[in-house]
Parts: sequence; structure tokens; C-alpha cells
Amino acid sequence: SEGLLGEAMKPATTKDGLTLPIYANGGLKSDLLPNQQALVDGVGLYRTEVPFMVREHFPGEAEQTEIYASILRTFPNQPVTLRTLDVGGDKSLSYFPIEEDNPFLGYRGIRISLDHPEIFMTQLRAMLRASIETQNLHVLFPMISSMQELNESLELLQRARTELQEEGLDIPSPRTGVMIEVPSAVYLAEQLARKVDFLSVGTNDLIQYLLAVDRNNARVADLYDENHPAVLCALKMIVEGGHKAGKSVSICGEMASEATSVLLLLGVGVDSLSVSMASLPSIKWVIRSFTRVRAQELFERAMEIQEPGEIRKMLDKALVDAGLGALVRAGKH
Ligand code: PEP
Ligand code: MG
Repeated sequence: SEGLLGEAMKPATTKDGLTLPIYANGGLKSDLLPNQQALVDGVGLYRTEVPFMVREHFPGEAEQTEIYASILRTFPNQPVTLRTLDVGGDKSLSYFPIEEDNPFLGYRGIRISLDHPEIFMTQLRAMLRASIETQNLHVLFPMISSMQELNESLELLQRARTELQEEGLDIPSPRTGVMIEVPSAVYLAEQLARKVDFLSVGTNDLIQYLLAVDRNNARVADLYDENHPAVLCALKMIVEGGHKAGKSVSICGEMASEATSVLLLLGVGVDSLSVSMASLPSIKWVIRSFTRVRAQELFERAMEIQEPGEIRKMLDKALVDAGLGALVRAGKH
């Protein structure tokens, strides 16, 4: 066999013939390279705050257009999902200081964008300008917690498009998606999905908010558990809600980059994954080694077990039994 790296070249097709699109996550320019086009189906999450964080002031519309166009051009024939600015929480801009006691529950993500339409509109116009050449733009809104936030975001996107059309530009209509990463959005998954083209689950934040465990606090790190039954329940609700609305559901949090979790994600019925390039070979290896039917059984079994440590053991055993023992992580995390 050509080993684990050879897996990255192959499609993520299960043993019962289901092919899952696998997208790449990125933020730094070096994350996304042209030679990755053959390995992935596009970009599922480009964190636009990263280029903002490495600058000393807000990049202007022309500068942002250049940044986004270079990513869209790197994957010209594949979907590229640009997430609108997601600062606040643990991500700060030196030139836009936010001081508050509870940053993760405070001024963050879409809340800032909607409170500063001039910043948001500049970014949306830049994304749309950048998409003229390749027409592969997908716009993803972070931290959505209500229908109103989504409706306002979509209105501003439409306004940005109209402004550019009034300049005489021919702007393709971008696909749109909502990140599901706040518990309220789990309950609204179906309604939110009706307004957009796809849902993308941000498990990093979703787990922290569902379990009330700061994702960066070492003291409570043991309580942060992707196998918590509430997390699995939430994933099921999101997938069912998205599918009821006829929309696809993707996972772009770190959970999609964990070998054991991929079994559960495949089992709960997600339509695609967006992963870090480093984990791509192992994720494809897992998908290629199982049937979706088997993954569904594992998910159902996990829902019955109800105990994260025991679920983890069952998943580790499933990997070992399938000859993927090399992917079993040492320790709990
Ligand atoms: C997430 O929350 O899972 C996510 C993908 O977004 P970020 O890690 O950038 O908050
Ligand atoms: Mg997030």
C-alpha cells in the first residue's frame, strides 16, 4: 500500500458507495495551495479574520478584494466558502479593542458586523467583487443566533450586490450558508436552512456553548467532550432540520478532523466535511474503511450508551477492528 499519504489522493467514498465531499479549512495564505485542488472538493471554511489579525488597521475594500480573489482563484472550479469576519471572543484586532467580562458571550462575530454595517458592507462588496472572475463564492455567516440576524445579514449582502450592479458590474449571486454554533441556532436549524443554501456546523463553539465549557480553559478541558450525548443530540437535530428544508449540512469544526468523530458524523448523516489539510489523509482513510450503514449503527449505539468515555471506547474499538488502530488517539483527547 502507498500508506496514509496515498489516502489523501483518493475520493472519500464509503464501502457502500457514498462519496462525501471533503473541503479544506484555511485562514493563512499558506494553508491553501493550488496543488490541493486534486485532494479536496474546495474550501469549506476560510476564516477571513486571519488576514485582518495580521494587519495594523482594517484592510480596505480593494485590499480585501485582492485577498479574497487570490483564494477564489486558487480553487477556480470548486466552491470556496468565505466566512464573514468573526472577531471577538478569543480573536482580537489590535486596532479594534473590545473590553468585556464575558467575551464569548459578548460582542462577537455577526453581532459586530451588524452593529458596524460600514465594516460589513466593505467586506461583502470585496467578496462579491472578488467572485466576478471565478463565480465560486459561498458566503458563510458566523455566530448566528436568531432569524433576525440572518435576515439582516442577507439583506446587507443583497444591498452590497445591488450597489455593485449599479456600478455596472455583473455580479453572480453567491451561495449562502449559516454557521450553526450557538445553541439557539440548533433549535432554529430548519428555519435558518430555509433562507440559505447550506448549514455548516462550527463544533468548536457549539460544544463550548452547549456544555458551558470555555474551549480555551485548561482547567475545564476534561469537560469539553465531543462525545457528550447532548452534542450528539444537537448534531442529529441540525442534520434533520437542514434536510427537512432540503439543504445540505456540513461540519467545519475540529470534530470533522477527528478520526473517531468522523464515524459519528458519517452515521448521523452529514453531507460533507471541512477539515484541516493535516488531517485529510486520516479522515479519508476512515470514510473509505466503513459503510455508512455501519456508521449509522455506531451513531445509534452511541446515543444509547449515553456516556462519553464508553462511546469513545466503542469508536476506538471500531477503528481497531477495521484495521485503523494507528488512528486511535492516546489518552482521552
Ligand atoms: C467553530 O466554532 O467550530 C468554527 C469552525 O469556528 P472557529 O473555530 O473559527 O470559531
Ligand atoms: Mg466558531
